[in-house]
Amino acid sequence: MRAGIVGAGVGGRLLSLGLAERGWEVCIFDKDTEEGRESCSWTGAGMIAPYCEQESAEPIICNVGLRSLELWPKILAKLPEKVFYQNDGSLVVAHPNDADELHRLQREVESRDFEGDVMQVLDAKGIGNIESELYGRFYTGLYFPYEAQVDNWKLMKVTPIAMAQAGIDCNFNTEVTGIEPGRLTVNGETVEYDMVFDCRGIDASDDIANLRGVRGELLHVTAPDVGLTRPVRMMHPRYPLYIVPREDDRFVIGATKIESHDLSEISVRGALELLSAAYALHPGFAEARIIETNTHCRPAVTDNLPYIDFRDKLTIFNGMFRHGFLIAPALAEAIIQQICDGKVTNAAAPLMYFNGKRAQESF
Ligand SMILES: Cc1cc2nc3c(=O)[nH]c(=O)nc-3n(C[C@H](O)[C@H](O)[C@H](O)COP(=O)(O)OP(=O)(O)OC[C@H]3O[C@@H](n4cnc5c(N)ncnc54)[C@H](O)[C@@H]3O)c2cc1C
Repeated sequence: MRAGIVGAGVGGRLLSLGLAERGWEVCIFDKDTEEGRESCSWTGAGMIAPYCEQESAEPIICNVGLRSLELWPKILAKLPEKVFYQNDGSLVVAHPNDADELHRLQREVESRDFEGDVMQVLDAKGIGNIESELYGRFYTGLYFPYEAQVDNWKLMKVTPIAMAQAGIDCNFNTEVTGIEPGRLTVNGETVEYDMVFDCRGIDASDDIANLRGVRGELLHVTAPDVGLTRPVRMMHPRYPLYIVPREDDRFVIGATKIESHDLSEISVRGALELLSAAYALHPGFAEARIIETNTHCRPAVTDNLPYIDFRDKLTIFNGMFRHGFLIAPALAEAIIQQICDGKVTNAAAPLMYFNGKRAQESF
């Protein structure tokens, strides 16, 4: 069976590897380079945080994310080079005036009745035990021991090698100009496939009704004076912040969230708010060096749930919103189950659309 995939963000890449594993002849196209620096997947912060996301996401996103948490180590183990992946949990803190936001998240998670000790409520000492450099700075926190993060830059660099090794026909710097059921047009030539997969992210907004962009800005810094060891979120009604430590003293500081399809560079306001909040969280950021700023639009449909639609010879894989790294492995698995076995058996099953109609209407 022959698959033609348009778009090599995290969605298209994981799908291509999974299909190749199931014996499909896979051809993938992306108008961007191998690393995909213009994609949303390059911009994303790579957090895999099913519980923290309960702050604003539907419970099903958490369920799908929990399946992805099981899949990520297996996916990464098959790659030819090591990709930084950390599963030491994440910490959420709030200043006393913003404690309501933190308690709201605590209540959301408690109301789900998860099995096991998925959340720990911390006082100042507990926060210091988890992140010693935050001792005495915050008095209330939540710790989610099972959450993880992946270095998406490294992931984007290594996956093309794995894809080539898997025999996938990778066509980077190649724009697809025509997408139809079972047919793709590239460089003026139309080629037939048993199934076409449309994984174009926000670029599909002209073709997918209700697909909108939610602009996000973030910064990468190097900060040798900061010793935070795991993702830290700071709750705030107007400037929620996260700091994600990577290898070599690098930190991701993010992210703004603006209802807009604007892909232009980070605004002064966005940079000021994020950097001020980071500096307030840890003064070691004063001497940090800004190494890159990124902006992209999270691809979202009206209900902010993923949009996966199985049609005749065309499957749409989009709408991952702010959860691409959290949910892409389980969604790719679900798509492959449907295409190869005729039935989705993982937690994403209720989210699937068939010819424009979703398996489950409400969540
Ligand atoms: C600031 C920010 C922070 C985020 N942080 C997180 C996080 O911590 N955790 C998390 O889970 N998610 C996060 N996300 C969300 C996540 O990044 C996205 O959900 C995910 O990257 C979307 O992946 P995608 O594959 O659908 O789209 P993309 O990564 O955008 O990939 C689409 C690809 O399609 C290609 N393409 C488009 N049109 C064509 C065409 N005609 N021909 C060929 N190629 C084409 C594009 O070049 C692009 O490479 C964040 C997003 C932002 C903006």
